Amino acid sequence: MRLYLASSFIFPRSLQMRLFALCFVATHLPLLAFIAWAAATGRLDFTGAAVVTGATLVGMLVAVGGIYALLAPIHLAVRALNDAEHGQIPPVPAITGTDLAARLLAGVNRAAEVTAERMRALSREASIDPLTGVFNRRGLQVHLDTLAERQTVGALALVDLDHFKMINDQLGHHTGDRVLHDFARTVMAVVRRTDMVARWGGEEFLIYFPGATEAVAQTVLMRIAERLRTTPLARLGDRPLTFSAGTTAVSRATFDEAMRRADSALYEAKRRGRARILSNAELG
Ligand code: GH3
Ligand code: MG
Ligand code: MG
Repeated sequence: MRLYLASSFIFPRSLQMRLFALCFVATHLPLLAFIAWAAATGRLDFTGAAVVTGATLVGMLVAVGGIYALLAPIHLAVRALNDAEHGQIPPVPAITGTDLAARLLAGVNRAAEVTAERMRALSREASIDPLTGVFNRRGLQVHLDTLAERQTVGALALVDLDHFKMINDQLGHHTGDRVLHDFARTVMAVVRRTDMVARWGGEEFLIYFPGATEAVAQTVLMRIAERLRTTPLARLGDRPLTFSAGTTAVSRATFDEAMRRADSALYEAKRRGRARILSNAELG
């Protein structure tokens, strides 16, 4: 590094030219010494000196071209690292061998892989609710944005656990967390692979059923309710934990509006005594 820094006053903007200058001086020293010695001793052969100088010029051009060509992998690595955007380094072509250039490009590719994997992991973490393993709001939004317009017709359900605060109060916060986790697992076990489940708030979940009718969504919810009856996740007194749900039909253009409709239906399901699934269409 010391020689590199010390030589930076020669062609400070070009490493190639600095390498060339070094080779030039190194190869021409003997030639210049020979010419000086021959001139000093009166033995200078002008034709010979002209031939050697011409050959040196040709050699110089070959050296410049060669240096540029040999430094091509370094150019590739520099370009890739400079083009890195949002933590993504574009991969470079791998070259076989173990010389400095091969190791440099392999290092760039390794860094590209590691950063890409890290970005994927961060994006996963930012999309998933850590307690339940289902989408959080952001995750669902990102997923919805990737859907084609025609896929976004379907049904939507907002599901809220009943008297959940009492689970916490009577059985402890830790049990509350376990119930949230197990409820999410139960939902995931019943819905289709293409359905999307998100934890919308504390003990409130959103289920989006792409391509399904509201009737299908209600059937799935009834199946979840049945599971909670047969295999209770927790009991309040002698009553198994229940949920209330509001459902509505949804299309891309009305997704926000559908959320409001499902929320109204959920509110009404709570008002009518909880442990029920209500369609927004039934609100009248
Ligand atoms: P309702 O039937 O009207 O929905 O009553 P509720 O008790 O379920 O609703 P409320 O909104 O009064 O209480 C929700 C509770 O959920 C309060 C809050 O402490 C709890 N909660 C929210 N997030 C978490 C969590 O991550 N873990 C646990 N254990 N509890 C949570
Ligand atoms: Mg609740
Ligand atoms: Mg709630």
